[in-house]
Amino acid sequence: MINLENMFASEHGVFICNTSISRYDAFMVLSIKRLYIVPAIIESSLFHIAERGFKMISDTCSYIHDYLQQLPVISTHEHHLKDEDQARLTLDGIINHSYVSWQNIPLGSTREERTQFINQARHNSYFVWLEKSLGRLYKFGGRITADVWEDLSDQISKKHENPEAHIQILRKNCRYHAALSDIYWSPGSDLGHPELFKPVVRTDMFVKCFHPSQRDHDDRSPWEFMPLEGLSFGEYMEYLEKFHREKVRQGTVAFKLATAYERPISFEPASYDTAARLYMMDPEEASYSDAIAYGNYIVDRTCELAAELGVPYQIHTGLGQLAGSNPMLLEPLIERHPETNFVLFHGGYPWYHETGALAHNHSNVMLDMVWLPLICTSAAIQALHEYIEVVPSSDRISWGSDCWTSEEALGALLAFEHVIAKVLSDKVDDGYFSMDDAKELSEKLLFRNASGIYGIDPNITYISR
Ligand SMILES: [Zn+2]
Repeated sequence: MINLENMFASEHGVFICNTSISRYDAFMVLSIKRLYIVPAIIESSLFHIAERGFKMISDTCSYIHDYLQQLPVISTHEHHLKDEDQARLTLDGIINHSYVSWQNIPLGSTREERTQFINQARHNSYFVWLEKSLGRLYKFGGRITADVWEDLSDQISKKHENPEAHIQILRKNCRYHAALSDIYWSPGSDLGHPELFKPVVRTDMFVKCFHPSQRDHDDRSPWEFMPLEGLSFGEYMEYLEKFHREKVRQGTVAFKLATAYERPISFEPASYDTAARLYMMDPEEASYSDAIAYGNYIVDRTCELAAELGVPYQIHTGLGQLAGSNPMLLEPLIERHPETNFVLFHGGYPWYHETGALAHNHSNVMLDMVWLPLICTSAAIQALHEYIEVVPSSDRISWGSDCWTSEEALGALLAFEHVIAKVLSDKVDDGYFSMDDAKELSEKLLFRNASGIYGIDPNITYISR
């Protein structure tokens, strides 16, 4: 018997559900044209009614979105702040440690200044997804305004009085099974949470610095971390290799290169002698091309080490020094190191077609959509459509949040889940593949591929909601 209370009208037709049936039972949809009986998750569908109005009720997109909520997540890239810094978070602190601050709009501290900031920042996708995340975690009506600012900030401070709060958000709200931590201020750190964070060693400082007076773009120098005084170049290289081997032995699962922020990512072959000649040279006396050649030698050697130690080399592409960060510049390096697995980050935005083409042509290229759904959600949708079609194996696409706080990490995950649901539902509705394919791909994108690429606990246990 159909009860009016269980009937919902929408633009798609009339939806009837019997709330007494089990969660995974059939959901009857009466359309004006057809009668559908489709599997649906009743509780979650009702949740969507409340959250989004009737727009997405029980359509393919909503169904896939619900399916994602039951899957664990492995994030391939985080810059998570240490416990003490998480404990001090306020709304201002979260924004200052988020990509919203990259918009370079002054945050201010008065009501007028905050209103001005919000009015300018509001529609950029960094702000949009951070606001959605805060709306999930705190009670303020879901819309950040100067009126709710202080109260929201107090709620954030209060939550973080619990020193475990930031870990709980990652575990419970983000459903993180594991997260790769690129703690560039402490290479190879697991932040004291080895059960969650899997370390990555960032190699930028080795690529940039050939003299103790130099620092990389994160203000790091090898001489800051290591007892390198007085070493010959041969001894220095031996030390570096030992350092990388030791880190991998201790649990580092990848090397990372973000040097696109300070030099072009074209890495021509360079000889040992060229690098040895430059080592310890006064940077004032070194030519630009010599300095680049030194870095090229280090990158080549790191590729060899990554292959030998069986860890992927994650490379930041796009949105660095723009003219030098086109992922196509990496092709000679990729060809020179067929045994090295290169994980190209960020879809190479704005060159996401190029990253797809590189993965198409080179079996040692993986694509990581890390940060991309936050940079430009609609580009991420287009990129995922392309990657699914063009990458020879769907095992080679992964995701990470690339964030400093749990709040922004949740926003990044919400953005990626939105992207997955939109893309996979389009492909199901267009008849490109079946719902079973969509489910399989959902699992690959959220955790199975990262598990395979980085060798993280293949016996995943599901985290309940
Ligand atoms: Zn990053």
